[in-house]
Amino acid sequence: MKPIHVIGGGLAGSEAAWQIARRGIPVVLHEMRPVRRTDAHQTDGLAELVCSNSFRSDDSEQNAVGLLHHELRQAGSLIMACGDANQVPAGSALAVDRDGFSDAVTKALTDHPLITVERGEIAGLPPEEWDSVIVATGPLTSPALSQAVLAKSGEDALAFFDAIAPIVHFDSIDLGKAWFQSRYDKAGPGGTGKDYLNCPMDKAQYEAFIDALLAGDTTDFKEWEANTPYFDGCLPIEVMAARGRETLRHGPMKPMGLTNPHNPEVKAYAVVQLRQDNALGTLYNMVGFQTKLKYGAQAGIFRMIPGLEDAQFARLGGLHRNTFLNSPKVLDASLRLKAEPRLRFAGQITGCEGYVESASVGCMAGIFAAHERFGRAVSAPPATTAMGALLAHITGGHISRDEEAPSAPRSFQPMNVNFGLFPPVEAPTKDADGKRIKGKDKTRAKKLAMTQRAKTDFAAWQAQIGPVQAAAE
Ligand code: FAD
Repeated sequence: MKPIHVIGGGLAGSEAAWQIARRGIPVVLHEMRPVRRTDAHQTDGLAELVCSNSFRSDDSEQNAVGLLHHELRQAGSLIMACGDANQVPAGSALAVDRDGFSDAVTKALTDHPLITVERGEIAGLPPEEWDSVIVATGPLTSPALSQAVLAKSGEDALAFFDAIAPIVHFDSIDLGKAWFQSRYDKAGPGGTGKDYLNCPMDKAQYEAFIDALLAGDTTDFKEWEANTPYFDGCLPIEVMAARGRETLRHGPMKPMGLTNPHNPEVKAYAVVQLRQDNALGTLYNMVGFQTKLKYGAQAGIFRMIPGLEDAQFARLGGLHRNTFLNSPKVLDASLRLKAEPRLRFAGQITGCEGYVESASVGCMAGIFAAHERFGRAVSAPPATTAMGALLAHITGGHISRDEEAPSAPRSFQPMNVNFGLFPPVEAPTKDADGKRIKGKDKTRAKKLAMTQRAKTDFAAWQAQIGPVQAAAE
């Protein structure tokens, strides 16, 4: 049988290679290290963790990444098996001995009779005769390959010096203070004239906010990030504030064309706008609020905004070099490049963020590629599962960059898995004694209902795609 080629032996590529090989299909795994290095990796090991040693929460009932752990384990994941075998104490999180973990992944893959690990850079589009390829080269994809992918996908940019804006859970926004309205009530294509959520500030609040922004701690630039440009001139908010105290009031925080229905007599001095970030309407991004403030500083400063006092952040803003596709536009539902379907993508290059998320997309890409090799229809995990929700984010659950004004920052951004990506669920409203469930208990009940639904639906999906052995026969 012809092998499937996997390019990149990181979190995604290692998992993809494993999933293919365990279905009885030969794999060639191409990893450029140590022949060519990246700016962040330190070793030659496969699945090297470039920064933290944590896979985050292992709680599969109350946490979305914990649920992803569960689904990966159910799918026979190599990354999770090696993570579990190399666990170090970290409370409810799964943290690992990074060297032990990477050594275990490397050994499992190199020892597998169907896997060949080839060291060397794939410096352009793979040869035509490779009819099934998974590209899992990560946020630090080598320039020769990223240029070739860029040209093939027809997109204008792939690597950015990314200043990303925070994303807030809709149900944590105080609608007693914020209101829905588009500037001048203008309805864009498909819009209603009420497409933005607006948070008003008076003069004193604005001045205090600017002071806090200017005093906020910012991330140190890494040397290797120095030459990568900002995306579309999307400057960090604190950089704009430093240019003049009024800059933001004339930029992303301008109050023009907006009337606060909670206080129509008083004109807001400044307004922070939030825009729907996912099709479900459960997440809103802070428009123009890309930032390089340190995480610790961000939540406190952004909760000074009226209406966001209790904001829960699905993702804080950040700044790093990143290479990722405009996946909702260029990839199909099974992660294949529409312009060249023999190329499938996995890992952070598809627009997920995080070790576990990257491994999950690698897991799905491996399963999809293996089923395709056997000539079987490829079915995706349901959007109610953590893997399915992540896949929906990547392949089209979010608003595409093309639907935005050309000057607006793109809305498709890498994201960690979070409950905001899942379709809403009916949770019990009363406890066993018939008492109304309120506050934190209500949130817990909702999360539990979501994770229980996900586990049932994931098991059903696994039953539907059939056992691994059957795939190999
Ligand atoms: P990687 O794990 O980076 O694997 C890609 C592999 O492809 C690499 O081994 C690389 O050498 C290889 N490669 C690249 N180009 C080629 C080519 N042309 N030919 C052959 N091989 C190639 N996530 C977290 O969850 N926690 C963190 O603490 C964290 N910190 C991060 C810090 C930095 C500096 C960066 C850049 C990212 C960080 N991430 C973190 C985000 C991300 O989850 C990880 O980068 C993750 O490793 C992505 O998995 P991946 O498999 O997509 O890419």
